[in-house]
Amino acid sequence: MATSTELPSTMKAQHLDAYNTPYVLRDGLPVPKPTHPWDVLIRVDAASYCHTDYVLAAGEMPGNPEKFPLVGSHEYAGTVVALPPSPAQTAIKLGMRVGVGSRAYHPCGTCAECLKNSSPDSDPRGYSVFCPAIKSNGIGIDGGWQEYALVDARQVAPIPDSLSVVEAAPLMCAGVTIYNAIKKAGLRRGQRLGIIGAGGGLGHLGLQYATKMGLRVYGVDNTDRALELARGLPNIEGVRIIDARREPAADIVAQVGAEDGAVHRGEKGLDAVIILPESQAAFQYGVDLLKNHGKCVVVSFPQRGFHVSAHDLVFRDIAVVGSLVGSNKVLREMVDFTAKHGIKAVIKTYPLEQLNQLVEDYKSGQGGKFVIDFHYKA
Ligand SMILES: [Zn+2]
Ligand SMILES: [Zn+2]
Repeated sequence: MATSTELPSTMKAQHLDAYNTPYVLRDGLPVPKPTHPWDVLIRVDAASYCHTDYVLAAGEMPGNPEKFPLVGSHEYAGTVVALPPSPAQTAIKLGMRVGVGSRAYHPCGTCAECLKNSSPDSDPRGYSVFCPAIKSNGIGIDGGWQEYALVDARQVAPIPDSLSVVEAAPLMCAGVTIYNAIKKAGLRRGQRLGIIGAGGGLGHLGLQYATKMGLRVYGVDNTDRALELARGLPNIEGVRIIDARREPAADIVAQVGAEDGAVHRGEKGLDAVIILPESQAAFQYGVDLLKNHGKCVVVSFPQRGFHVSAHDLVFRDIAVVGSLVGSNKVLREMVDFTAKHGIKAVIKTYPLEQLNQLVEDYKSGQGGKFVIDFHYKA
């Protein structure tokens, strides 16, 4: 095993021991060693909290985790400190700073998903985030809230010098998920995109990405905190922030129609919307903003799903599609786009010891992204 420095033999981690219980900090745990040809060991420098961590800890992700205790966090960043004895062909080297997307650890390499390479955004044959055999770090298997973590060299993205590890960590799920969803909306520059849930962890990044992609952006939310966070963002020149409590979708559609000189309802509205909240009201608000033939990209996955109006599908030709994180290729593209355009997540940091406090703050409705900084200084 090639290592960059002398590694300690034990480490600290935060464990989830059971559903609906606080995380438990443990010390003296063995530092994992890379043995699989694709594995690299990273020293975790920053590990972020995602809504899925909340859902998982509440026992609402069927089949996950695969074991207790689980080390959560599926969006993290660190420094490569060890390679396996016989590394696979990879450009990942000792000392590199990398971000880790949770999908896909050890895909099978032989199934239809792994062998499909159908879109320009697909990963090379043999690797797919859709492989049914994959493990997801921090969801099925151990993730980022530990001092050292084994990751698949194919699931990481090198971090450019202009991004810190704390800035990079939240991009690894929130960033790539919203970036991929915007791509999936399939719009040209100048077309209109609505982001429902614009002041949340994904939404506030999405407003910035979509603006820098040249789209006309409408950010919708329904709490004072979320709207305030959205309005205070950098990189959102020209974005229209909408308070859904005060402005019905029909009013926005009428305004857009007037701007375009459109006559019929079907011509008025946005070209695509992205649904981030889990509520039916948010979903319908988004669909109601669309013009005919518009696209609704669903990212959230409430347990009871969404009700879709057959009238919207049949008479208005609304298309509803889903979007799941993104390939490693899109992950890397998103990281470069973020660095190039100065996209910034709103971040609050905590030491590893204060993970439970972080969760409390998240539950209180504070916006932005919450990140464990392993080099935290008060
Ligand atoms: Zn996530
Ligand atoms: Zn596979």
